[in-house]
Amino acid sequence: TTSGRGVQISDTSVDFEDIGGQSAAKKELQEALDFLLYSERMKELGIRPLKGILLSGPPGTGKTLLAKAAARYTNSSFLAISGSEFVEMYAGVGAERVRKLFHRAKDLAHKQKKSSAIIFIDEIDILGAKRGSNVSHHEYDQTLNQLLVEMDGLGLEQEIQILVLAATNRADALDSALLRPGRFDRQVKVDLPDKEGRLAILNIHTRNKPLAEDVNLEKIAQETFSFSGAHLESVTNEAAVLALRDDAQEIEMKHFREAVEKVLLGEKLDRKPTV
Ligand code: ATP
Repeated sequence: TTSGRGVQISDTSVDFEDIGGQSAAKKELQEALDFLLYSERMKELGIRPLKGILLSGPPGTGKTLLAKAAARYTNSSFLAISGSEFVEMYAGVGAERVRKLFHRAKDLAHKQKKSSAIIFIDEIDILGAKRGSNVSHHEYDQTLNQLLVEMDGLGLEQEIQILVLAATNRADALDSALLRPGRFDRQVKVDLPDKEGRLAILNIHTRNKPLAEDVNLEKIAQETFSFSGAHLESVTNEAAVLALRDDAQEIEMKHFREAVEKVLLGEKLDRKPTV
């Protein structure tokens, strides 16, 4: 079937506790999610339903994790798709995919006996970039319009509540129509972790790894300024691989040090201009 193309349905096994640092983002997000949890009260008070939340920040900082944790927190079904999945050569295909996505979310919640579903759209900027800047982007416009139509149609009177979480690392490039009230009217900033955040992330990703006496994660956290959560996850994995190569029973500090270098080097290589 084409309806399932690119859509990932995942179990909601991520907990807010599995996300290191990001305490401000977590708090803001949880507050917003309470709108979904208490939708009955919202209805009684005539409060406008929350339909969309925008997560913005650099790559690898945990936006996808936050979306998954949001689904768990609200006991919602979870569907994820990337903005790039809507990019098609043929007119109307992207818009049709958006329509199907919302249908699918409702179906899934029904099947899973949930009263709400969270749709996570990664790289929303691909379809939600400022309109009219380029005539050849007509097809994206149709897709974006369909997304807005779907979101405008969401409401408290629906049997299944749908909340759209979208992620971008270029919030400034988004079409203002997306950010209007009743659409993505809440923004949660997800920044690179500070030292404490980095330590929390290192702790999470070494939970099930044997560490030698000499390992000082605080020191590693101190020395990994500007690393994202994804980078830090790589460091812990790389350190374990290096320990394996040394035939060591435990991961030692030198493995972490070398792993940091490797991840740094990988980043530098990525940033080299391609000729
Ligand atoms: P992108 O913008 O590239 O999609 P993202 O912000 O959605 O990135 P995630 O996909 O959530 O980032 O993170 C990628 C991986 O990095 C996670 O699966 C996890 O292993 C690790 N990670 C990132 N941030 C954190 C965090 N705050 N705590 C724990 N792990 C993290």
